[in-house]
Amino acid sequence: MKKYGIIGGTFDPIHFAHLYIADEAKASLGLDKIIFMPNGNPPHKSLKKVSEASIRYEMVSEGIKDFEGFTVSDYEIKKNGLSFTYETLQAFKQEDVELFFITGADCLMDLEKWKNIKEIFKVSNFVVFSRPGFTYETLKEQKEYIEKKYKTNIIFLNLKDLDISSTDIRERIRLGRNVKFFLPNSVLDIIKREKLYK
Ligand code: ATP
Ligand code: MG
Repeated sequence: MKKYGIIGGTFDPIHFAHLYIADEAKASLGLDKIIFMPNGNPPHKSLKKVSEASIRYEMVSEGIKDFEGFTVSDYEIKKNGLSFTYETLQAFKQEDVELFFITGADCLMDLEKWKNIKEIFKVSNFVVFSRPGFTYETLKEQKEYIEKKYKTNIIFLNLKDLDISSTDIRERIRLGRNVKFFLPNSVLDIIKREKLYK
């Protein structure tokens, strides 16, 4: 049985915390590969402006290139518009592959807003990493609540808190502040070339 980790997100832009949780999951769960899955662009111009999918895809490709076993998929981008995680996981599930959907703590807290979570638990393991802003107690309580309600097991992994978010990076760039500590140089080069987040 092969083990694949899938990490979904907007990746606007990809940063070191994304790479860190992917690498930790790979090492501690013995995953054969990690698939980064950037979301497609929202169908209508939504209030939240998200960078073009092709650029976010390029940033992920560049950001992961020094990491063995890290790959990027254009599956959700190609679908165009909203993708549901359960559908993506169904599409990637194969007989000889065990899936691990990798998330940060904010996803665990929001989980009940996701569509068809029962199906997510059916086709994949669900992995949650600690994230600054969420106490251990809050996460433990939510983990137990979800596990009981959906008769499932959630894999909770603790990591050294990296207080990095794409929102913060975008804001710092807008203010002309340095972001070199938060993401790979190759990603920053694309941000500069495309004049993103100004
Ligand atoms: P934004 O601020 O735009 O929401 P983000 O930094 O949260 O960006 P996403 O693309 O939304 O990044 O997240 C992709 C996945 O990575 C999510 O599961 C999220 O919880 C996780 N993640 C992002 N940053 C961290 C972090 N610092 N620690 C743990 N998990 C993280
Ligand atoms: Mg986020």
